[in-house]
Amino acid sequence: MNKTTKVLGLEDTFHFSCHPGIDCFSQCCQDVNILLTPFDILRMKNHLSISSTEFLETYTKRLFAPETSFPAVQFRMNEESGKRCYFVDDQGCKIYQHRPWPCRMYPLDYSVDGEGFIPMVESSRCLGLKDDRTWQLRDWFEDQGLQPYNEWNRRFAEVTEDEKLASWRKEYPGGVDIFYLACYDLDRFREQVFKEKLYEMLDQPSVDQDALKTDDLALLDFAFTWLQTVAEREVGK
Ligand code: SF4
Ligand code: SF4
Repeated sequence: MNKTTKVLGLEDTFHFSCHPGIDCFSQCCQDVNILLTPFDILRMKNHLSISSTEFLETYTKRLFAPETSFPAVQFRMNEESGKRCYFVDDQGCKIYQHRPWPCRMYPLDYSVDGEGFIPMVESSRCLGLKDDRTWQLRDWFEDQGLQPYNEWNRRFAEVTEDEKLASWRKEYPGGVDIFYLACYDLDRFREQVFKEKLYEMLDQPSVDQDALKTDDLALLDFAFTWLQTVAEREVGK
């Protein structure tokens, strides 16, 4: 987008409508770089009734940021269908109710300062931006079901921005793999939690082991707390 693009607030409006039949339909689901968060992965693997391990192996590729020793997860595009997303067909997104955060935000994104929002694509490429339908941003975000995604992404941001945890990933042998397991491969992390009794490492007397066995959100919350607790104890010892 050019530099004069207006930064929008929640009370501002924009024009948008996306529907089958529009000339660009599903073109934005092809050859795109989409980073996935732990909550994105959890929602999709549960909807598909497959394990986190199978989801990661089939639909994603692992990236690595050496400066922070941070492992990221990106959607893999389907090379056999012209780099289209594995989940798009002629009717659109096959996992629409469970699509990840970036797909819910599109065609909007945060502005550079993170204080507002801007269209991330020109209306010549996303024709829905030329539609007459007017949305207030607040209503648009609600319509897209963004609230739980934003909450879990905020929690994940605390983890990704934790400097002690970044140091721990760099210094602790296998730290990057353990971080990847706890954040993204929850079903395998659950096995480790009970095999190694990882819940005994937290001071909280109230870790609900039954919830960790059956509730992925409780397990994800535990994973974030456990990672930060381990880093706090280990770094600078
Ligand atoms: S480019 Fe825009 S209008 Fe076209 S399918 Fe994607 S979101 Fe919809
Ligand atoms: S998950 Fe759905 S909306 Fe997102 S790129 Fe794939 S098909 Fe498109």
